[in-house]
Amino acid sequence: MADSVSPDYHYCPRCRLELKLANRGGLPRPSCTSCGFVHFRNPAVGVAVVVLDKQGRILLGRRSAGGNEGAWCIPCGYVEWGEDIREAARREFAEETGLEVRIGEVCAVHSNFHNPAALTVGVWFYGEIVGGEAEASDDLDRVAWFSPDDPPEPLAFPTDRTVLVELVRNRANVR
Ligand SMILES: [Zn+2]
Repeated sequence: MADSVSPDYHYCPRCRLELKLANRGGLPRPSCTSCGFVHFRNPAVGVAVVVLDKQGRILLGRRSAGGNEGAWCIPCGYVEWGEDIREAARREFAEETGLEVRIGEVCAVHSNFHNPAALTVGVWFYGEIVGGEAEASDDLDRVAWFSPDDPPEPLAFPTDRTVLVELVRNRANVR
């Protein structure tokens, strides 16, 4: 398992004392001996929405901000604290593509290890367009349709490639 001890935090965010490693929940974690604060390091939750047209093409976006600029991804973002995961998926897709989607079934779930400093768990939902006009915004500067077996390069995230491969395989199984 990846390092649970964060190099990012050396002092208690509550009382500013130095954090010491202590066994909490089965792993050594930075802990405060004064107030009991424990820094649990957990992956963030990311969401992405897989929208397919009648030809089986998928809507992808080219990133212009937020890292991996110039690379393509399945439109995605982070779940905010207190936000329902499906609402996060709907919101992120609308912000980045201008399209309103109805969120459907889970398409895929994968752990993302490509950025060791920011581990995430990604949930890819199927989505169906219910309104709006496709226009890149927020972290994207282009949106376009691609066959899942012929995606644009480079792709920003290895797990998006995994999902595209799974989509091709699922489509082959349907035939
Ligand atoms: Zn403390």
